[in-house]
Amino acid sequence: MRIAVPRETAPGERRVALVPESCKRLIQAGYDITIEAGAGAAAFYADRAYQDAGATVVADRAALLREADLVLRVAAPPSGTGPGEFADITAMRPGAILVGSLMPQRNLAVVRALAQHCITAFSTDAIPRTTRAQAMDTLSSMASIAGYRGVLLAAEALPRYLPMLTTAAGMVPPAKVFVVGAAVAGLQAIATAKRLGATVTATDVRPEVKEQIESVGAKYVGIEVAGASAGGGYAGELSAADKERQQVLLAEQCAAVDVVITTALIGGVFAPRIITAAMVRGMKPGAVLVDLAADGGGNCELSRPGETVVENGVTILAPLNVPAAMPAQASLLFSRNLTAFVQAFTKDKAFQLDPADEIQQRALITHDGQVVHAR
Ligand code: NAD
Repeated sequence: MRIAVPRETAPGERRVALVPESCKRLIQAGYDITIEAGAGAAAFYADRAYQDAGATVVADRAALLREADLVLRVAAPPSGTGPGEFADITAMRPGAILVGSLMPQRNLAVVRALAQHCITAFSTDAIPRTTRAQAMDTLSSMASIAGYRGVLLAAEALPRYLPMLTTAAGMVPPAKVFVVGAAVAGLQAIATAKRLGATVTATDVRPEVKEQIESVGAKYVGIEVAGASAGGGYAGELSAADKERQQVLLAEQCAAVDVVITTALIGGVFAPRIITAAMVRGMKPGAVLVDLAADGGGNCELSRPGETVVENGVTILAPLNVPAAMPAQASLLFSRNLTAFVQAFTKDKAFQLDPADEIQQRALITHDGQVVHAR
């Protein structure tokens, strides 16, 4: 069975779906691997490294896709415009399999094209958040990078020290960081800000995360609400009264800190509006807000995805595709996630479709000419 890996083409995308280390593993599992020439270049994986790992490197993208039984990619194939639209999809053989972080809700036209072209597509964002699926969870590995990187961006934009310093000229108190949302990205942001010496507070609508917040060194602040989980670890909707209490708490925290980092991007797609313009206006001049949910529109009312804005002396960063800023390690983790997915369903040197398997069921987006679901 042949696995193909095309070069990613989205603007600013520097990751590659498979790194040489994973090629070796998949070749051992019985696959042939073909990589598009230059696919790993922006992530610092040279064609030569793929060849040394046993993969074949080819320049002809259309041929690479046509001859593949299974295509691995980071993001959904581009939709394009005009003639040649969906070229990466129509180049694939009907019946072939596609695995990647396809974000189907954001790419409905692509999903329809995949179905029309009879591609069996799995989206790793829809993988259940279970122990068994953990090694395949691209949302988690990428969120962890975003959490880490978000703190560095804040530190860089902040016109003061993060740690406490004792100098001959006297003591400098540590900066205060407030993290909103304490799942994968948020917990990593807390841990990183702590390592850099900041004093960290954090909040979440799910009461069960209080202990996790404390275990990585932050103080939990929050309104305790019952039933704020929607199941599967995701947050549910708050009641109007709880929302109001949360607003007061958020405004107080924003006014008290030097850095706010927001991380709520539910299912990797939906960014609830949490920080209002008024809350930003209540922040200290020189404070920084890093909105790590910009890919979904942002958690802050004033965020402009992909841009930095300054409002009342407060700098608001809303970086897009943060994991691509650390392309070598983001690709390594992503590649390990995809490899774990493929290996889990490999039998007799081939990927086996298993409609009864929970992970496949949840991740399956299109099959047999149909859109299965686009969650
Ligand atoms: P996410 O991007 O869905 O949300 C980030 C955090 O923001 C969540 O903790 C959420 O409760 C919180 N949030 C949402 N709305 C909020 C609001 N209005 N105010 C404050 N906080 C708000 O998180 P994620 O990283 O995708 O993780 C989702 C869940 O899945 C978490 O429970 C996580 O622990 C769990 N998870 C489990 C596994 C596993 O078991 N294999 C792997 C990864 C994540």
